[in-house]
Amino acid sequence: MKLRNRLTLLFTGMIAALLLLFAGVVYLSYSHDREEEYYKTLQQQAVTKANLLLDAKVSPEVLQLIYKNAAGSRSQEEVAVYDTAFNLLYHDAVNIDKVKETRQMIREIVLHKEITFHEDNLQVVGFLYPHNGTAYIVTAAAEDEYGLRQLQLLFRTLLITFLVAAVLVFLVARFFSQQALKPVSDMVDKVEEITATNLDLRLAGAAGKDEMAELAQTFNRMLDRLEQSFDAQKQFVSNISHELRTPLTAMMAELEITASRDRPAEEYRQSMRHAIADAQRLVKLSNSLLDLAKASYDPSEINFREIRLDEVLMDARSAVLQAHPEYKINVVFEEADDDDMVSVNGNEYLLKVAFMNLLENGCKFSAPPATTVTVTWFKAHTILRFADDGIGMSKEDLPHIFTPFYRGDNRPYADGNGIGLSLALKIVRLHKGNISVVSKPGHGTTFTVELPHI
Ligand code: ADP
Repeated sequence: MKLRNRLTLLFTGMIAALLLLFAGVVYLSYSHDREEEYYKTLQQQAVTKANLLLDAKVSPEVLQLIYKNAAGSRSQEEVAVYDTAFNLLYHDAVNIDKVKETRQMIREIVLHKEITFHEDNLQVVGFLYPHNGTAYIVTAAAEDEYGLRQLQLLFRTLLITFLVAAVLVFLVARFFSQQALKPVSDMVDKVEEITATNLDLRLAGAAGKDEMAELAQTFNRMLDRLEQSFDAQKQFVSNISHELRTPLTAMMAELEITASRDRPAEEYRQSMRHAIADAQRLVKLSNSLLDLAKASYDPSEINFREIRLDEVLMDARSAVLQAHPEYKINVVFEEADDDDMVSVNGNEYLLKVAFMNLLENGCKFSAPPATTVTVTWFKAHTILRFADDGIGMSKEDLPHIFTPFYRGDNRPYADGNGIGLSLALKIVRLHKGNISVVSKPGHGTTFTVELPHI
């Protein structure tokens, strides 16, 4: 069910229940008051008749005649007078006798002095009536025709009012819920229009301060983020294709030129060496992309376990030195108080990749190619400083070097694809750590990696 309909029904239901409660209270209280009032009236009339009989000594025949004249009316009270021994002293109409008095009833009246009860539509009152030192039992019965008619009328009026009010409340509730939810339906229509090709569209109504405006603002902010990441993805793909195309084009051009005519064996060899170098760049690029994809997995999908940082760092060093035996990598471990300080909960492969990239960068941007890593152990985290005395980088490059495919002004100095640092940052962040950098052109560069032990 639509929220609009649910709100309408809920609101109508609530108001209808309140109206019903209100009408019920009015009806019941009127009905109760009418009944009480009528018992009083009955008793008064019965007392009057008893007085006529006992005081004014009006003869029973006259009283019976008066009664008979109005005998058709159910509201004409029928009075009977007994003594306490259940001897009938007077009866308005013994042949009609609306209420059959019994000895038990008389006993009850004597006991309670007054009783009231219903017999069909008749209300009956029986009471002890002391007169000149003698106690009489007087009973009176009649139907409150007028009162009951009023009660019925009240019931009808309340019912009609309730139905009309319920319909009105329903219409008003529908109108209000429509008005209240209109911004939402407008939003739904607008959001339907937004696709990957027009992510620049934004929701209107974000200017206010109410909840709807807040929703629109939140949605628009989400669209901003989506658009940014969509653009970043597009940029990423075009960067990848560019990075792939450059070595491939170079390789094809070289091979085509070489194949265009007969050449001495040494030229073929030279051309093949170039082709192999380009192919190696491609392999390196695809490996880096693969690692980047792995580092972008959901952390819950990555295998984390207790690993020793010193071992991972030494492994990374050996791997870099194996590929580039000319590099010099010094590792200085400061003393650790205990083994817990040396280990982290991490992914060995990814951390090794991050360290290799930092070691390689330090070496490839310095001459002679050398990097020094200093490792300081703390209780909560470990600090690794990758320092080189190389060419450094410009102030303008610093904010961008962690962006995928970004290569600084100093890129002619060394081969690369601009993925290394962004990959290292992603991996360190995955381990809840951080990387910072200090660099000055001509004065070398220091990357500081902070890794918590958890
Ligand atoms: P790549 O090294 O493949 O170019 P990276 O992502 O590893 O890509 O580095 C991005 C850029 O940061 C490099 O192009 C370079 O300009 C700069 N850079 C990174 N490390 C160093 C360093 N140790 N010394 C000087 N510049 C560096």
